[in-house]
Amino acid sequence: MSATIPNFINGQVFQGRGSRTSPVFNPASGEQSGTLGLASAEDVSAAVVAAREAFPAWASTPPVRRARILNRFLRILEDRIDELAQVITAEHGKVPSDAKGEIQRGMEVVEFATGAPELLKGEITENVGTRVDSHSLRQPLGVVAGITPFNFPAMVPMWMFPVALACGNTFVLKPSERAPSASLILARWLKEAGLPPGVFNVVQGDKEAVDALLTHADVSAVSFVGSTPIARYIYETATRHGKRCQALGGAKNHMIIMPDANMDLAVDALMGAAYGSAGERCMAISVAVPIGDATAQELIQKLAPKVRALIIGPGTDPSAEMGPLVTKQHLDKVRAYVNAGVAEGAELVVDGRDFKRQGYENGYFIGGTLFDRVTTEMQVYREEIFGPVLAVARAGSYDEAADMINKHEFGNGTAIFTRDGDAAREFAHQIQVGMVGINVPIPVPMAFHSFGGWKASLFGDHHMHGPEGVRFYTRLKTITTRWPTGIRSGAEFVMPTMS
Ligand code: NAD
Repeated sequence: MSATIPNFINGQVFQGRGSRTSPVFNPASGEQSGTLGLASAEDVSAAVVAAREAFPAWASTPPVRRARILNRFLRILEDRIDELAQVITAEHGKVPSDAKGEIQRGMEVVEFATGAPELLKGEITENVGTRVDSHSLRQPLGVVAGITPFNFPAMVPMWMFPVALACGNTFVLKPSERAPSASLILARWLKEAGLPPGVFNVVQGDKEAVDALLTHADVSAVSFVGSTPIARYIYETATRHGKRCQALGGAKNHMIIMPDANMDLAVDALMGAAYGSAGERCMAISVAVPIGDATAQELIQKLAPKVRALIIGPGTDPSAEMGPLVTKQHLDKVRAYVNAGVAEGAELVVDGRDFKRQGYENGYFIGGTLFDRVTTEMQVYREEIFGPVLAVARAGSYDEAADMINKHEFGNGTAIFTRDGDAAREFAHQIQVGMVGINVPIPVPMAFHSFGGWKASLFGDHHMHGPEGVRFYTRLKTITTRWPTGIRSGAEFVMPTMS
């Protein structure tokens, strides 16, 4: 029997008044594991009101005390990482080691946010004019909302709320309806760490809940991570309603393999980057671009047997390297992309469409799939598949490969594998992509740098976490101060010039 998955509002579990529900599945077995109560606009409003009421006290709590709560939260995460990983595996399908990896990356943002007293330090200039001083400081925005995708149920929320809370904002999280339970564990542990009621709230739901957040007068800013069409919609709607917005979208990440690359290193890197987490990562490599036919031949020759040998299974199998896709609908979509690639004339080197795992025949499994001779007009090249499907698109030269990347709609991540410093430097310098790896296949920035792509991979001005996150979740105030010597000087009626 499936349990009902609730909201978390004002420090408590809250069932919600909405009548709509949505099933949650275990992707490995295909069985329904829970029922999600979808929040109504009224439920969302209850969360926003709780956050609004908690804001003044939280905003005026000294940053060092806010940081101490985050520190306690960090210790809880460290102690109970296995518990959270298990919940992620059960709803998302990724293998436990991968689930722990995402929690670890999220914890690094919490660590970064515990530096709040340092991060929020302002600037001061003495004597901007005679006996006049100026100082600038950053203050929180108010209630901020986070809307997150299914593929990182813990890490992506943790890109957002640790920084938002450290800066003194209160938060309403709307997680993916496909993997909703991790958010409730995070809420419970934040409460246990000492976070006051109303500072962090979770509303479960779909478009209705999202639209209620985007249009609510008391929400000051919206952070979003998900697919590009929705990111564009979120950015346009939130900004039209006067909110600050950062909306991260989809990706199609290319990896160039130069003829001088260490091929064994490149092949191992590609295996993890293309097939890890069943390709359901926004930083997954989905296009490999070998330079020259000899490089392409060697790449395919070394890659294909490894793709065939991938160990695919449920998270309960400790030897599994890759789990199932998240839902039956997504499995059908990924299979349809593979069919489209075949119909368009790409060469299917490894076909994962008919993969079945014994004992898990109803699970949403698909095998690792490899295409060669993919061209830039094909749908499998242009669109994000978000599955374990790697396209090899051969290029005749470095310039041709760089041009492909620069012309692509998306600009999230990219990598080059080479031994040549000149090629690497040129690539880093001129490629039109937000996150670049040199012999690093998945160049996800650490928490104290900021994460974000270019072009259709990000709408808005700020990347997430790191210094950009602090800027996004605060606004600048500049104060100019003069302490008169007394009433001797009298009133001034001329334009002040700070002379
Ligand atoms: P999605 O766009 O379907 O959903 C993301 C969120 O938007 C969810 O909370 C969902 O409930 C909500 N949503 C969905 N449809 C909506 C609508 N019509 N109106 C309002 N809200 C709506 O994305 P997903 O399938 O959960 O996640 C996969 C996508 O996320 C991929 O495209 C992937 O590249 C992207 N992603 C990007 C990054 C990044 O950093 N750029 C990181 C992770 C995932």
